[in-house]
Amino acid sequence: MRSNGENPLRTALNLIRGGNSKKAHPILVEFLRGEPNNAQAWFLLSYTLDDPQHKQQALIRALRGDPQFERAQTRLQMLRGETGRTYAGKISAPSLKPATPAKEAGLARSRPAFTSAPAIRTRGLTKFYGSFQALHGVDLEVRRGEIFGFLGPNGAGKTTTIRSLLDLIHRDGGTVEVLGIDPQKDPVAVRRRVGYMPGELHLDNNLTAEGLLRYFNDLRGRAADWSTIRKLAERLDLKLKQPIRNLSHGNKQKVGIVQTLMHHPELILMDEPTQGLDPLIQQEVLHMLKEAQADGATVFFSSHIISEVEAVAQRVGIIRAGRMVEVADPKSLGKRSLHRVHVRFKQAVDSNQLARLPGVRLLSQNNGTDLFFQIEGEMDGLIKALAAYPVSNFATERPSLEEIFLAYYEGK
Ligand code: ATP
Repeated sequence: MRSNGENPLRTALNLIRGGNSKKAHPILVEFLRGEPNNAQAWFLLSYTLDDPQHKQQALIRALRGDPQFERAQTRLQMLRGETGRTYAGKISAPSLKPATPAKEAGLARSRPAFTSAPAIRTRGLTKFYGSFQALHGVDLEVRRGEIFGFLGPNGAGKTTTIRSLLDLIHRDGGTVEVLGIDPQKDPVAVRRRVGYMPGELHLDNNLTAEGLLRYFNDLRGRAADWSTIRKLAERLDLKLKQPIRNLSHGNKQKVGIVQTLMHHPELILMDEPTQGLDPLIQQEVLHMLKEAQADGATVFFSSHIISEVEAVAQRVGIIRAGRMVEVADPKSLGKRSLHRVHVRFKQAVDSNQLARLPGVRLLSQNNGTDLFFQIEGEMDGLIKALAAYPVSNFATERPSLEEIFLAYYEGK
């Protein structure tokens, strides 16, 4: 193959670009016999294979040959479904130059010089899944160095927004800037500077927690110290020697948290990081986010839980049905508490009088003795009014976040 003097990798690349990957395949196989660790050759070979498993293996071999080979990292993530986007099989001009060394590629821990651009800015972000519109023009701005909570009920569009920030989901409209970069134009540059924890983790069951973290660390050019990884794992009570397949959902979640934070990223994006964790560990994770902030990072995390957002975030953005409803100070959310109260009276009462109290709404009643109220804000007024009646039972319940959102944002 080399006898005609042409670089076989260049030949294979041109064949693949021309849509003739079948012809490229034997050239690459032959080349790899002579140079079994050539990362570029393994990378190109991955385009000539049909079976997704084989494609992945070829990319893993490419990364063994060159752990900082960014295109191979990105493509491997795409094939593993970590990006949520199926890879179309197009080659966007893979260069045959050696990959950029980690330091030059910005994988070192140092933070870039301060710029006044926000950490995240979206304008009119839209996303369709087929004919269903999941995001209706989301405008979002996250300032550098803040912790920003992203709250919303199920299906509101939190995950879709977060994934669009990394171009793991291709937006259909609007603009996005993450650390001043459009992720659609340069997803690798954005992902290099971000620690990302997806809502649903897909971890390799054949590795131990330690093996997996080492693997992620190798992919990032060993940007994290092993001592940092060990400390994070200890704080979360994660046993590093355990095989992933033996880990509970919560423990897998911890592996995700460690891999997100271990390299001190400039921007931390987490999709429901505390979901499924014990309360004490949830607290520890929130401490870690505060520490990351103190260390200069910006944190953007989604949640269902108002109280945890209140505890750490400086600002909270509320999304509902694919639209940003408002951006608020989290403390103001607490004041808007919503409760349901079920009161049983010993005898029938005039419910209209109670329903006229400020913040009180009568939801249902049965014979004037069983009344069901919704109270927005303080309960003091209702409780004082009830003192005038013979009450046989009183029970309160907190509605779901969905109901709270509905109550506040109905008609907005
Ligand atoms: P949750 O809190 O339940 O994770 P979320 O706020 O993260 O919800 P998304 O996962 O972003 O919401 O989903 C937003 C909307 O888009 C939902 O109605 C969801 O059903 C829909 N959706 C999400 N992914 C897809 C997909 N791949 N195909 C079709 N519809 C989708």
